Amino acid sequence: MTRESVAVETDRYLDEAHRFSAHNYKPLPVVLDRGEGAWVWDVEGRKYLDMLAAYSAVNQGHRHPRILEATRAQLDRLTLTSRAFHNDQMGPFLRRLCEVTGFEKALPMNTGAEAVETAIKMVRKWGYEVKGVPQDKAEIIVCTNNFHGRTTTIVGFSSEDQYRDGFGPFTPGFKLVPYGDAKAFEDAITPHTVGFLVEPIQGEGGVIVPIDGYLGCTRETCREHGVAFMADEIQTGLGRTGRMFCCDWEDVRPDVLIVGKALGGGVYPVSAALADAEFMDVFHPGDHGSTFGGNPLGAAVGLASLDVIVEERLVERSAELGAWFMDELRAIPSPHVHEVRGKGLMIGVEIKAESGPARPFCEALQARGILAKETHHQVIRFAPPLVIAKEDLAWALGEVREVLTS
Ligand SMILES: *Cc1c(COP(=O)(O)O)cnc(C)c1O
Repeated sequence: MTRESVAVETDRYLDEAHRFSAHNYKPLPVVLDRGEGAWVWDVEGRKYLDMLAAYSAVNQGHRHPRILEATRAQLDRLTLTSRAFHNDQMGPFLRRLCEVTGFEKALPMNTGAEAVETAIKMVRKWGYEVKGVPQDKAEIIVCTNNFHGRTTTIVGFSSEDQYRDGFGPFTPGFKLVPYGDAKAFEDAITPHTVGFLVEPIQGEGGVIVPIDGYLGCTRETCREHGVAFMADEIQTGLGRTGRMFCCDWEDVRPDVLIVGKALGGGVYPVSAALADAEFMDVFHPGDHGSTFGGNPLGAAVGLASLDVIVEERLVERSAELGAWFMDELRAIPSPHVHEVRGKGLMIGVEIKAESGPARPFCEALQARGILAKETHHQVIRFAPPLVIAKEDLAWALGEVREVLTS
């Protein structure tokens, strides 16, 4: 095929998506058809470094051989039983997940939003049955600028107008406090407060890193007031920030840990809410569930995904490469950059308001073979697969430097 005819192919895919898909996203105009490690290829054969990693769902890299092998083996045996029957994959997976996270029990779901909903239900029921909050009075405190998913309950406590507009009425029982303000959190607690739901770094909110001590301080406040500390580590967890979990930076152990994204190794949606028995045992048969949650295919994928993170030392890689890359980004003499921030390989480059939005910078990076996506208008997020080679990251740095200084 000539180059022109494949370019027509790209347009055909864009037209088709425009015509048959709901317009709830605005993707970069690139059509991908192959991936390997930190690299992806488009239908025109162009190669790109994937600096988004599917919002950290591909921490292990595209098509990690070991995860694919586990997936294939399971495809040949058994894929779905529902929870009406047991399967031989869920137990070993959840045992490993509990070992890696240090919790007694896990409740497997599929998407991140479902795991957040699971945590909300768990903590509310714990509030009524263990803490003794009067019926239907339970409150959960959440943070401004949060992102926890897209269900009607979750968007109901978003502070982002666009996430809410047109989707009400919303679930009551949530109270917003400013992110990063431990005093405001403590002041908002009432005898009916059952939980505090927080992202250790806000990802979709623009890679917002709270001041040091915020997690430890709010964790302690929760302990004093009998409030469950619920960490949404769907994006920050599983090595992304240079620790297995971002809460580890402050030696914080949440009461409820929410994981997803990279738990599915870029292959299959796998999520979970984790807690000790005190919380998890509020669930009885019939209280909660999911047709696909804990299915043998997802469990096999999840187990292999965890093994890859641990055995390939991706957490250490993230810490080392991230520290180096962030230092190098900060050293770029750019007239456009307001701030470079993050932890590990979760990095945000905030563009100055007077330099315009981040989107044109992402488009310029795309033209140079780097896929990054703007978040919150002004921020370019760099969060490549954790398996990325240092020389690939060094190459990307050169391209980023060109774009940010031109
Ligand atoms: C992506 C994300 C979610 C939602 O996960 P889905 O799988 O898209 O439902 C929730 N919380 C955080 C912090 C996320 O980054």
